[in-house]
Amino acid sequence: MVRFKKAKGIKTIEYDYKKIPTADYVKDFVEVERFIECCKLCPNYGTKWGCPPYAYDVREKYWNKYKYLHLFAYKMYLEDDLVEHGMTEEEIDNLVLGIRHQNYIIASKWILGVERENPGSFALDGGHCAKCKRCTRPKGKPCRHEDDIRPALDAIGGNVVKTAEEIFGTKIIWIENGKVPEYFFFIVGILSDSEEINKGNWG
Ligand code: SF4
Repeated sequence: MVRFKKAKGIKTIEYDYKKIPTADYVKDFVEVERFIECCKLCPNYGTKWGCPPYAYDVREKYWNKYKYLHLFAYKMYLEDDLVEHGMTEEEIDNLVLGIRHQNYIIASKWILGVERENPGSFALDGGHCAKCKRCTRPKGKPCRHEDDIRPALDAIGGNVVKTAEEIFGTKIIWIENGKVPEYFFFIVGILSDSEEINKGNWG
């Protein structure tokens, strides 16, 4: 079992796994230009080497190089009282930041472990690169660990909302009007030429 933190506010965690030929995923779920426009709204845009814009074609560098995409999704249900009673904006920020941050770190370490166990595979991380305290990109200097860059699915054009709905049969829901969603949904992935991979301790 992956040890995602049942941080304060988390009731249960569900795990799911799917695989899809990469060519099919690219055809139906990858929209590089569209999602780079969305990335422009994120504060990490252009400030981390693992985030857009890239000086290379992500289709050539990532998508076209591997036959299969293995997707690992986890859904964290929030405690009923949080969902029903709502929270202040500050409480929501703390909750979201806390849960996201802790679990991105755990998911990131975990997916890199799966990559190591499957030689020749490539991990798609869940968030931005946080390997160094200060990324070199804002100063225009090269990445300190270029070979370790593992972009997120959406950072290279994957439509995460559509992936959640059509591959995992779940909706991504957002915080709205001071109400936290019933759950948070996260996806990480492995690109590989193998149809079967060692999934480590998933689920
Ligand atoms: S490894 Fe360091 S320098 Fe490279 S993208 Fe990550 S934070 Fe930036």
